[in-house]
Amino acid sequence: MVSIALKSFIGLRQITSENKSIVLSKPTTQTYHKIRINASKTSPRVNGRNLKVAVVGGGPAGGAAAETLAKGGIETILIERKLDNCKPCGGAIPLCMVGEFDLPVDIIDRRVTKMKMISPSNVAVDIGRTLKPHEYIGMVRREVLDAYLRDRAATAGATVINGLFLKMDLPKSTGSPYVLHFTDYNAKTGGAGEKKTVEVDAVIGADGANSRVAKNINAGEYEYAIAFQERIKISDDKMQYYENLAEMYVGDDVSPDFYGWVFPKCDHVAVGTGTVTHKGDIKKLQIATRLRARDKIEGGKIIRVEAHPIPEHPRPRRVLDRVALVGDAAGYVTKCSGEGIYFAAKSGRMCAEAIVEGSENGKRMVDESDLRKYLEKWDKTYWPTYKVLDVLQKVFYRSNPAREAFVEMCADEYVQKMTFDSYLYKKVVPGNPLDDLKLAVNTIGSLVRANALRREMEKLSV
Ligand SMILES: Cc1cc2nc3c(=O)[nH]c(=O)nc-3n(C[C@H](O)[C@H](O)[C@H](O)COP(=O)(O)OP(=O)(O)OC[C@H]3O[C@@H](n4cnc5c(N)ncnc54)[C@H](O)[C@@H]3O)c2cc1C
Repeated sequence: MVSIALKSFIGLRQITSENKSIVLSKPTTQTYHKIRINASKTSPRVNGRNLKVAVVGGGPAGGAAAETLAKGGIETILIERKLDNCKPCGGAIPLCMVGEFDLPVDIIDRRVTKMKMISPSNVAVDIGRTLKPHEYIGMVRREVLDAYLRDRAATAGATVINGLFLKMDLPKSTGSPYVLHFTDYNAKTGGAGEKKTVEVDAVIGADGANSRVAKNINAGEYEYAIAFQERIKISDDKMQYYENLAEMYVGDDVSPDFYGWVFPKCDHVAVGTGTVTHKGDIKKLQIATRLRARDKIEGGKIIRVEAHPIPEHPRPRRVLDRVALVGDAAGYVTKCSGEGIYFAAKSGRMCAEAIVEGSENGKRMVDESDLRKYLEKWDKTYWPTYKVLDVLQKVFYRSNPAREAFVEMCADEYVQKMTFDSYLYKKVVPGNPLDDLKLAVNTIGSLVRANALRREMEKLSV
């Protein structure tokens, strides 16, 4: 959750506005209304049936996509290999996700209102001071969030299959179906499952960082970070400290290019770190993260160890013909913060909306141009956010002196306000010109000090 507030400083300030051409009815507990589309199109009608779309993967991207498709009149199947999947993840979500995806408050384990940013020399800056009383960062367990979104898709009409997607045969001619091969674990054949196929008109690949759908369409590779996390059960006394507080540690010891974290969960803390450049050292970096937090987690019991790749940038290809990638499969995690849950759900929904719109509620065949509308909208809305976080990572995560400068800047209330507003609401809010100027001067001051410090340190190590 690192600042995108500095957009104002580097001149990328803008308010993102979303195209509201599709109006999704607000889901109530049991009733779902169809999405109404007013569009005209010349692609052929799918006669005697509705457009059929497969969503592969039932994480936040897949769950959100399947719900939107089903509500929009599309015959939807969702294939998820593990219905109790516990995705390795910190589980931090922005406040806007709770509202936009109508998440019930009881699936949020903790409401974090205080964040400590801790520098390489262990200077800690509290960065929740500007939050309003109703504002917080949500902490969820992924097994809970993902199951909730999948169940809601099923309630909206999607068929959820507990199966492992294996591969798909691409259409032999325009308009002919994709044939998906999968192992169906619902079958009563014991643990091995049963090999099956299903024919669909379009496919959404929401199967995460190791996406088989992406491989099937030769989407190309992306650079990735490896993230490592331990779930640690600590005493109730120690847990009290993390009641509504999360910690981020920066420094060469915890990660040469990312950060280490301690995030509070329902009855334990998640302690982790990540790196792109030193993947082979990940366990060493994890030990260092644990060491930095040792006073607060001492005596804790590690109850789960997990690791997973985090994409660093979008894949070279995200749409081909009637196949689109969303979430981690597409590569939508932000640099610097490593945030991907909201962007996964959002891209799943956006892609599904494009299909609903292009097919006029499932009545017509879609083509690549319909799916490309999702890409255009996505890139227009989020490109600046990704770019700014990329720049921030390059500037502030490159050395310990730069990280010290970064933590120093985080003490500024204006930086905090812009940071939280940008993170919680996923909008780059307009700043106050005078404060922007002050921030620019302070930033330059911090960086100059950081560079001077680095030069001194380099002299010492000669
Ligand atoms: C250690 C760690 C910590 C993180 N912390 C945070 C955080 O605090 N906040 C945040 O916003 N982001 C965080 N992220 C990133 C976040 O976890 C991802 O961006 C997010 O999970 C992407 O969602 P998704 O739906 O695209 O993919 P996933 O969540 O990976 O879901 C993919 C789904 O597809 C299923 N699947 C895969 N292959 C197949 C197949 N062949 N057949 C059928 N099903 C299949 C999987 O079982 C899974 O359920 C973290 C990542 C890591 C690794």
